[in-house]
Amino acid sequence: MVRRACGARIRAGTSIQPNAATGACMQLIDLQAQYHRIKADVDARIHAVLEHGRYVMGPEIEELEQRLADYVGVPHCIGLSSGTDALLVAMMALDIGPGDEVITTPFTFIATGEMIGLLGATPVFVDIDPRTYNIDATLIEDRINERTKAIVPVSLFGQIADMDAINAIADKHGVPVIEDAAQSFGALYKGRRSGGVSSLAATSFFPAKPLGCYGDGGAAFTTDSDLAERMRELRNHGQSAPYYHPRLGINGRLDTIQAAVLLAKMEVFEDEVARRAEVGARYSDMLSGIVTTPTIAEGCTSVFAQYTVQVDERDRVRAVLNEAGIPNAVYYPVPLNRQPPLYSDVAIPHSEAAAERVLSLPMHPYLDIEDQKHVVSTLERAVAK
Ligand SMILES: *Cc1c(COP(=O)(O)O)cnc(C)c1O
Repeated sequence: MVRRACGARIRAGTSIQPNAATGACMQLIDLQAQYHRIKADVDARIHAVLEHGRYVMGPEIEELEQRLADYVGVPHCIGLSSGTDALLVAMMALDIGPGDEVITTPFTFIATGEMIGLLGATPVFVDIDPRTYNIDATLIEDRINERTKAIVPVSLFGQIADMDAINAIADKHGVPVIEDAAQSFGALYKGRRSGGVSSLAATSFFPAKPLGCYGDGGAAFTTDSDLAERMRELRNHGQSAPYYHPRLGINGRLDTIQAAVLLAKMEVFEDEVARRAEVGARYSDMLSGIVTTPTIAEGCTSVFAQYTVQVDERDRVRAVLNEAGIPNAVYYPVPLNRQPPLYSDVAIPHSEAAAERVLSLPMHPYLDIEDQKHVVSTLERAVAK
């Protein structure tokens, strides 16, 4: 197996330790390990696209859409050019626009709030449950009014939001729900898959997501055939038949080559979901009592798009990890209500507290025990100071 070694950095006199067995440097997300596992299939499928030449809307798109719809357990999947475009097209299908309000969480990647704002609507930020980092469903109903056009819960870090509670409030008020499933593809909520726990959902196949392609990609899921048809038109310039455009849309199609890559990755995805659960559980075992580990709610599984802990004095802890060559990241340092284009002056205490304390550790299906032990012992040393 060819893996990147960290010899250069060792020679430079730092204290970075390569994995004793593989000689490889630790990565936050190791995409090369996965590629080498599925190389033959990926290469063959990409080659098939190069040969048949239907680079846009080729046969792999429909094959993938069917495969993903079956996996998620909904009738319709629409391949899209990114998770951001999947959110955009889902919101456009609901006619969200100026004067409308959309309830969401501020503790997420910018795209969730960004697409609401880009359509001229106003994001209404509701705080998170500090244990799961997902929107606190008990705070939603107070914020619903006649302008509310949708609720967009985000299934953050790989765990689905409390969808039964959210769907119940939404149904009571006749408001649609769009799950932002960009980080949770593969996760389960009471036996149902992320993407299939609300009438609409958007996911991302950005390389670092639980199911990633080799560039940008995404998909929308729905149980509603009218919305599915609308989204298919919207991703293709609002076109209903060649060169007939009943509404305006975007160029939001998924590339055929990316669909081919995803078809190869689906062959190992269930195994990877199981490995992610193992790696996450192992971290939680080893880190208990050292830092605040993730809480997985009753009835939920996590695909650990991120393995995120909480620490005091995060900058100092990160400096120790960096010195030891342990990749780490902060998702997210600034909640969306504090970002200039989406600024809102209300206090959202749990999101703001989380933003100051969260720290994400190396996490991928091929992370081995030796590397995990190294992460844990270094983190233990860092927080003890
Ligand atoms: C990654 C991500 C997106 C956007 O997906 P892209 O494919 O990068 O456009 C949206 N929401 C969340 C929560 C994400 O993590």
